[in-house]
Amino acid sequence: EISQIIDETPVLSDELIELSKYMRKRYVCTYDMAIRCMLPTGLGLLFREDVILMSADRVDLDRDEQEIIKVLSDNNGKISVEDLTQIVNRPVRKILNQLIEKNVVRIKSHVQMKARAKTEKNACPAMDEEEFWELVENNNVKNLNYIRIMEILYEEGSISVAELNALGFSQNTLNNMKKKGYIAFYDAEVERNPFEYDDAPETLPLPPTPSQKKALDIIYEAMETGGFQEILLHGVTGSGKTEVYMQAIAKTIEKGKNAILLVPEIGLTPQTVRRFKGRFGNQIALLHSRLSIGERFDQWRRIKNGEARVVIGARSAVFAPLDNIGIIVIDEEHETSYKSDRTPKYDARGIATFRCRYNNALLIYGSATPSIENYYRARTGKIKLVEMNERTNNLPLPEIITVDMRKEPDMGSKNGISTVLTRELIKNKEAGEQSIIFINRRGYSNFVQCRNCGYIVLCPYCSVSLTYHQAEKKLVCHYCSFVTAKPSVCPECKSNNIDLHGIGTQKVEEQIPQIRSDISVIRMDMDTTTGKRGHEKILDTFRNNKIDVLVGTQMIAKGHDFPDVTLVGILSADSLLGSGDYKATERTFQLITQAAGRAGRAGRHGRVVLQTYNPDNFSIQAAIKQDYKEFYRQEIALRKMLKLPPFYQLGLVQVSSKKSEAAMEIIKKIHSDIINNMNLNEGMFVSDPAPSPLAKLRNQYRWRIVLKHPRIKNMTNILEWIYDKYNNSRKKEWTVSVDINPY
Ligand code: ADP
Ligand code: ZN
Ligand code: ZN
Repeated sequence: EISQIIDETPVLSDELIELSKYMRKRYVCTYDMAIRCMLPTGLGLLFREDVILMSADRVDLDRDEQEIIKVLSDNNGKISVEDLTQIVNRPVRKILNQLIEKNVVRIKSHVQMKARAKTEKNACPAMDEEEFWELVENNNVKNLNYIRIMEILYEEGSISVAELNALGFSQNTLNNMKKKGYIAFYDAEVERNPFEYDDAPETLPLPPTPSQKKALDIIYEAMETGGFQEILLHGVTGSGKTEVYMQAIAKTIEKGKNAILLVPEIGLTPQTVRRFKGRFGNQIALLHSRLSIGERFDQWRRIKNGEARVVIGARSAVFAPLDNIGIIVIDEEHETSYKSDRTPKYDARGIATFRCRYNNALLIYGSATPSIENYYRARTGKIKLVEMNERTNNLPLPEIITVDMRKEPDMGSKNGISTVLTRELIKNKEAGEQSIIFINRRGYSNFVQCRNCGYIVLCPYCSVSLTYHQAEKKLVCHYCSFVTAKPSVCPECKSNNIDLHGIGTQKVEEQIPQIRSDISVIRMDMDTTTGKRGHEKILDTFRNNKIDVLVGTQMIAKGHDFPDVTLVGILSADSLLGSGDYKATERTFQLITQAAGRAGRAGRHGRVVLQTYNPDNFSIQAAIKQDYKEFYRQEIALRKMLKLPPFYQLGLVQVSSKKSEAAMEIIKKIHSDIINNMNLNEGMFVSDPAPSPLAKLRNQYRWRIVLKHPRIKNMTNILEWIYDKYNNSRKKEWTVSVDINPY
């Protein structure tokens, strides 16, 4: 029995259906999971049941049954099961079943969308204008309010009832007018506005600088040639990449096609949005995780209905139901947030590639510090490389002062702020200039480092740092599963000053006033930025109240403009190097570059104090010189030697279970399945089973295997086989998840 038609038009286009097939293969997931990525939460369904009273005159009812009937009678004979349960304050299912049996009530089920379009009651004239004025002339309408309201309505066509009320016309007046047939009410949809400011001033295209012109020429030429093409825009911070995106998007629209701009979640600031809104006005739709369910639902529908032509959003906006895509721009393409951390563990860059290929569209990656993978593709001719080396304001890059923390006295006192940084902070306070202190949260007190010589305990086979596992009190390699005990003396210098390393934002925040009691401080990290405008509030306070020091995590390293900041302190530039991730060096380089970009934006002399235990590490050396190419040369050689992406594909199989033994047993089974499957494992490097970095998460024990193979196809084939084989029984006490090129 069909109770309700949910959608009048299909929710997925042919393109998105094809995309779900691709995702199923490429990221090894189910269609269901893939399609869930494409639909806004608000489109989900709620199941609701109503109890309907059929006859209230039965006499053979017990007390419980009578109580229910009473509630039903009080509610005009109809109430949802949920509300009923609330009112009687106990389970009602059993009593309802008895009542159904006795034919006293029946149950009607509904399916309902989680989000609905928001509506507003409007009023409009219900009578021909001439006819109404005739009535007035003939003295049939005497109420002056009626006449004024009709004047407004004939002028405006229609107006919301709320507005009429606000003008001083009572609901009563309006109801009477309806009775007399002068006006009618109707519900009109109103769009929930996701934009935080409506006052985006118009921003006209800027005359391009020489390097912008070069970039745009290449982009326009690619548009003329047509077909799927990729361009990597490698431009230093402030070189005007955003302006290039805007002009490229404007050209796309001119050609009758649509555009998607992806921005990392934390980079999606109101300033960015306002800049685009000022250029493209109402053609913009916005999608990101801080919108309410209703707002997202409305934006999704606007895109779907063809009302928006430029979609701006974070990772999931790559699934926007936009037709006829001409361009997708991925800003800060190196950002790790483009990879989903939930199943399906897709990469927005991969999805964008699919969509651009499907639409014969242009895919533009932009970054000051491109991902090694994409830069490699650019160097090998698969992507066109465009470089923008000058800042639009010709400002020099800030001076970088390196502090070798191995030589810093008494760092055991733990606040992590060096003498140099202390001195500079005081200098800035006295000059009335602001400072930012940056601490990386990742690799937070979980790697082992010698405080004497800076040595970090590394895996002998993978040259990544070993991660300390609290539960087992062991050091583990996250790539090859090498396990060892925590050394008590430094293998390098024999000092016993070797221990777990890491400091957090909160600790630093507490330490600042001890440097000098009049230095004010504000902290920005995950814990202090909850809520829709959490980030903005802290940044506004810092900016407007002239707080001396902002202490924060990587959130503050991104795109924000603080004209009065002249000093940036990077507390532990190498903390990432201990994160156990093969991308650690890459991220270290990216982070230092980005953090340094915050110093001295408005023309004043900017300084960066970079504290490190590894001043000789190549990623730190290259970052100090701001030499991306030098960094790339060394990193790509390492990747090749260590059989890592882009030369090899990594595959991760993880088993989680409430029972430690179950997880262990299944991962061993999977391991031997892979080893024994000669057809699938050819050329495959298979690690031994090992506990995952987060060995226990939400009460689940997790074990994993890491695979390496040069070809993506071999990797997806074997992962699909494992996934299907181990996820098909319903009643199991474990879950198997897979991830391709995990971070
Ligand atoms: P990026 O995205 O590379 O960091 P932006 O596009 O944000 O750079 O540009 C940096 C600054 O330079 C912005 O304030 C922007 O308004 C300004 N700008 C960009 N292009 C031009 C131009 N052609 N002429 C003058 N100023 C420009
Ligand atoms: Zn040492
Ligand atoms: Zn290893």
